[in-house]
Amino acid sequence: MISFDKAYETVMASSFRMGTEEVPFTAAAGRVLATEILSDIDMPPFNKATVDGFACRLEDIEMELAVIETIPAGRLPEKAIRKGECSRIMTGAPVPDGADCIIMVEDTVLLPSGFVKFTGVNTKANISFRGEDIKKGEAVLHPGKLLSPQDIAVLASVGAVSATVSIKPLIGIISTGDELVEPQYVPAMSQIRNSNAWQLIAHSEKTGCESRYYGIARDDEAETFNIVNKAVSECDILLLTGGVSMGDFDFVPSVLERAGVKILFSRVRVQPGKPTTFGIHEKCLVFGLPGNPVSSFIQFELLVRPLVYRMMGHEWKPMSLDLVIDDNYRRRSSDRLGFVPVRISPEGTVKIIDYHGSAHINSMSMADAVMSVPEGRSEIRKGEIVHVRQI
Ligand code: AMP
Ligand code: MG
Repeated sequence: MISFDKAYETVMASSFRMGTEEVPFTAAAGRVLATEILSDIDMPPFNKATVDGFACRLEDIEMELAVIETIPAGRLPEKAIRKGECSRIMTGAPVPDGADCIIMVEDTVLLPSGFVKFTGVNTKANISFRGEDIKKGEAVLHPGKLLSPQDIAVLASVGAVSATVSIKPLIGIISTGDELVEPQYVPAMSQIRNSNAWQLIAHSEKTGCESRYYGIARDDEAETFNIVNKAVSECDILLLTGGVSMGDFDFVPSVLERAGVKILFSRVRVQPGKPTTFGIHEKCLVFGLPGNPVSSFIQFELLVRPLVYRMMGHEWKPMSLDLVIDDNYRRRSSDRLGFVPVRISPEGTVKIIDYHGSAHINSMSMADAVMSVPEGRSEIRKGEIVHVRQI
């Protein structure tokens, strides 16, 4: 049995880079950028008013100012500002030559004479200067960026209407177990619904991958072998759930070996997830995840998620926090690194969720983080600082 850190290193060291493809920028959110994006313009492209008001010379703001034109957004000024003059200007409009500030409309009165008088104490420039955000030719986004909605705005603003991104890894998913029925059926006594496959499909897609579902393999070596054999030739990553424990019908490790998968580890000092198995087939990385849904969720989060991001060129780190725990926590054994579903309260403390073990998927559904419990620790007292990572 290896440590979790060793398992993590082994998985990450086995990663390979996906190729790239070009997509319209509108489809690029959630994808990992493969090239540098340069700005084709200065931003802002001209000196821009940041408030509605009057463009004038700072040295004239004590004077009564003659209004010489109105400049809406989207229109060029026609007149330069001279001593004692101002132009009515709207937010986003180009600042006329000669003006070095915009006095806010709220800080002015319109005199019966038609002149404008500044009533404030002093004013900022209220001008966003040409190129102050980004200069033409400057890199605005770098390779490896996981593109967010804000990045789509950046792509739009520099006219990058397509982007080169990493191809999504294809993740194959196989459930194993004679007891499983698909969710639309009512399980008979002794049966349970297949929840893992659907969780793993959703988790894969949320992580920016394509998924391909191969169905339920019965606890039969030949059947499992046929499905695995097909899946490893088609997918970048293959996830099996169940069949990796010590039961008489846990055929997954032997089937993987027969199918040509080189097993790199098959037991990890982590709880839940001890039987997690990992190996490499020519061009496919294979995980045998435990059958219990909480275990497979957590192992996906801990091992598969960082792997797929690395395969797409994105160095991902989970959002990790050290917070005060609001409950006492105790576990029976302390020989493994533990992960426990928790909630972060509105006050920023950690609340333990009622958790009956790794089959208890509802507890995971109520969690927004997992707390790690170091090897050797079986008890944590209310008020201590604990380490949690957001899920
Ligand atoms: P196994 O690793 O095959 O021994 O399975 C461990 C436990 O997880 C057993 O209680 C299984 O019934 C359960 N299990 C296995 N596969 C699934 C699945 N796809 N969905 C939900 N529970 C499962
Ligand atoms: Mg099983």
